[in-house]
Amino acid sequence: MRTSSLAARDERVNWHPYTQMKTASPVIPIVRGEGTYLFDEQGKRYIDAISSWWVTLHGHAHPYIASQVSKQLHTLEHVIFAGFTHRPAIELSERLLSLLPGNQRRIFYSDNGSTAVEVALKMSIQYHFNNGARKLKVLALRDAYHGDTFGAMSVSGRSRWTVPFNDLLFEVVFIDRPSVTNLAAIKQVIDVYAEAVACFIYEPLVQGAGGMLMYEADVLSQLMLYCRQKGILLIQDEVFTGFGRTGQLFAANHLTEQPDIMCFSKGLTGGTMAMGVTSCSEMLYEAFYSSDRYKTLFHGHSFTANPLACAAALASLDLLVNESTQDNIHRICRQHAHFIERIRQHQGIGVTRQCGTIVALEPKESEGTGYFYKDQQRLYHQFLSNGVLLRPLGSVVYIVPPYCISPEDLDLVYEVIETVITQ
Ligand SMILES: *Cc1c(COP(=O)(O)O)cnc(C)c1O
Repeated sequence: MRTSSLAARDERVNWHPYTQMKTASPVIPIVRGEGTYLFDEQGKRYIDAISSWWVTLHGHAHPYIASQVSKQLHTLEHVIFAGFTHRPAIELSERLLSLLPGNQRRIFYSDNGSTAVEVALKMSIQYHFNNGARKLKVLALRDAYHGDTFGAMSVSGRSRWTVPFNDLLFEVVFIDRPSVTNLAAIKQVIDVYAEAVACFIYEPLVQGAGGMLMYEADVLSQLMLYCRQKGILLIQDEVFTGFGRTGQLFAANHLTEQPDIMCFSKGLTGGTMAMGVTSCSEMLYEAFYSSDRYKTLFHGHSFTANPLACAAALASLDLLVNESTQDNIHRICRQHAHFIERIRQHQGIGVTRQCGTIVALEPKESEGTGYFYKDQQRLYHQFLSNGVLLRPLGSVVYIVPPYCISPEDLDLVYEVIETVITQ
């Protein structure tokens, strides 16, 4: 592969995420994006079948989002959000609250998914503190991923990644992903620790980074109800599942119980700007609403409620609730279902699973190898050379497309997967 001048310059100065810089293959400089496509320096086109780490909802460089952000940029680019406010933040909070489960009443802004989770954890711990209780344990799912900052890392599944930090992470009671068969056993574990547990944090229906691991809405609703009965706050991390990914606007729409706190980022701005949101119920908010200044939530970031990010999020929501986008989401769900039906017959394919617009499968020969699947890099590069950006999580090949992907391009992605895996 010819190394471009941009790639060579990058190699001298940049340190990339989740990348062993010594052994990684050269990065691909992208010079332009348009809809489903990314274009590199040589003009080669890639279908972005993973929405650039699951953030892009409506495609790259969307003209409507661009014009709304541009307008905002010429009006007010930023203002401190302590003691001040602005129309985009007010409108975005009003819009979000009108779409979220009915018990969600307040929006707290931050910068990304990890910070949205940090805020949720601090809200939960301090909720109990402000009410005169000391509860310091967190209940979380094995294989969970909630981000890379320390709190978020603490409540994520322990793995090879966390080994250097394990002794610094806080006390978490890990339970298995719930199913009809293990729910009774999980309840017994909860009974043992319930008194000391502040909150239960979970990725609803799909554990993304853990390998697109999926579980049933019904059993999650039962688990949520049980936690509530035990006085454990519910933090629903919809950083990945939010904004249409599961086929509904939020994973919450599949559930019969409502969480106390919710986290959003990724698709929030349509993938345009970095932004995090933590929403909460009136009960949570009231525990902080006091004439005692020490009951304040002492948390904030320089760029809290950045007006440009708010404008991007408002524009993305306009597009998301649009009938044509909703039609696209439903069409992607149906197309995925047909693909799964077809590919299941295939010799080389092991497990397959789907939740809404998210589809995942594993090559049969990879079974049991998990994140350290030997062929991960080979698959990644073969997908790329076929013009499709897919980035297997170990042995798990998944598609999380932007909603604007055409039926033809989605079929092309399926074909490339089928060819590369079964050849
Ligand atoms: C990606 C992700 C996060 C972390 O978000 P960042 O913006 O990458 O910090 C948290 N929770 C879930 C479920 C995620 O998928």
